[in-house]
Amino acid sequence: MDIKFNADVIVVGAGPSGVAAALSVARVGKKVILVERAQYPGSKNMYGGAVYTTALKEVFGEDFDKFKYERVINTHTWSFLNETGSFEMTYKNNEATCAYAIKRFQLESQMIEIVKKHGVYYIPNTLVKNLIQENGSVVGIQTEQEKYYAPITILADGVNSLLAKELNLRNDYQTKDMILSVKEAIKLDKKTIEERFNLKDDLSNGVNKQYFGSDFGKLKQYKNLFMMTFLYTFKDTLMLGVGVNLADLSRNKLNINEILDEVKLHPDIAPLVKNGQTIEYSAHLIPEGGYKKIPKLTSNGVIIAGDAAGFVNGVHFEGTNFALISGKLAGESALVALENNDYSQNTLSIYMKKLEKSFILKDLYSYRNVIENLYSRSDSLSKYYPKKIKELFEIITCANCVSKSKQIREYFFSYFKDRKITELFKDIFAASKCALDVFFGK
Ligand SMILES: Cc1cc2nc3c(=O)[nH]c(=O)nc-3n(C[C@H](O)[C@H](O)[C@H](O)COP(=O)(O)OP(=O)(O)OC[C@H]3O[C@@H](n4cnc5c(N)ncnc54)[C@H](O)[C@@H]3O)c2cc1C
Repeated sequence: MDIKFNADVIVVGAGPSGVAAALSVARVGKKVILVERAQYPGSKNMYGGAVYTTALKEVFGEDFDKFKYERVINTHTWSFLNETGSFEMTYKNNEATCAYAIKRFQLESQMIEIVKKHGVYYIPNTLVKNLIQENGSVVGIQTEQEKYYAPITILADGVNSLLAKELNLRNDYQTKDMILSVKEAIKLDKKTIEERFNLKDDLSNGVNKQYFGSDFGKLKQYKNLFMMTFLYTFKDTLMLGVGVNLADLSRNKLNINEILDEVKLHPDIAPLVKNGQTIEYSAHLIPEGGYKKIPKLTSNGVIIAGDAAGFVNGVHFEGTNFALISGKLAGESALVALENNDYSQNTLSIYMKKLEKSFILKDLYSYRNVIENLYSRSDSLSKYYPKKIKELFEIITCANCVSKSKQIREYFFSYFKDRKITELFKDIFAASKCALDVFFGK
């Protein structure tokens, strides 16, 4: 069949990866169709709150300055929660510029406005149902209403990517490779947020808090419950959410909403969200399979980018940067194919080379065992060490009229009494393996 192409490239999904892919193709005057199932930009997308500016600049270039944000995230805290409080580390840079807190509808609206100005033909409110294939190559998409044709289709359709599955490019993830996350947007007035988080009255400062530990409240009873809680300050909203591995949830027969409710009652978190009004509740999956679960990234006429390819570094809450840069590289690879008039898997595999040169495959490779190791020691991380940290700081901070050296000696020996000594060695082994992998990574 002689196909009449509607565009040079079709991009499915208008999240960060799709928008970046569309922009890199449109910039050189090629015709791009960007199809998004959501009626309103950002309404199907969800995250904690940090967009990393290096990636945003790299993709949007001179348009980067147009982005409006609610706060610069200049303060990061890592807290280990215990029953009655926490141990917290803070890093603050008063001149930070590397991450913005932007709500998803603001992020996607602004990105889409920019790419439309660069000539991208944006089709919202349209679900791509299937890919159209001809002689073993993807040549277009079938939406609920119409068919659109292009020699190359970029799949930026997010974590579930039914379209990549349709092509057998990726297998179904197992539950252990997925995080389920829920998040509440909690409204408080701006002044209250600034008082509670010790922020100045301007956009140059904001907080991202990450909490570890599940040894408190009703969560104490659940074994192997590794969860990460996050809190971001926006102008007059807090984003509070929790992510838990799907396998942990099903093993413990736990409902993630109950976990978030429990988190809100923790004595360190409750005062931060007190009197706040929940104005939005959302849930989303995060791919956690990492390097070992990367699907086949190209086939004849097709490239996969962003969450659809599993490009996330969950340890550092990085996803938008992976999405933006992989989208850009997917777009650039499509341009190479267009130039050569060859849309075969062979030509498109230049995408893999570009990814290898970028931080994307390097980081995924060096973190390839980290998540697995964390999960394998989840009771240690979530229950045992938060408790031991508490014990240590009780000794340091309580003038309890008992000899300090006696207490410290007892504390030290307690590591050998509390549990089997092999557990300690397993913890040390897992931690060393993670550190060495990252240190000697690509
Ligand atoms: C709770 C949570 C917190 C996070 N926090 C952060 C953070 O703070 N910082 C960070 O950098 N990353 C974070 N991430 C990760 C980040 O959100 C993702 O990695 C990023 O959004 C991926 O972008 P994407 O464009 O690949 O996919 P998405 O943003 O998921 O976009 C995919 C798009 O494709 C559309 N789509 C899907 N199927 C179809 C179809 N068939 N037809 C048409 N359209 C379709 C969807 O509607 C959607 O708009 C977080 C994720 C979660 C879930």
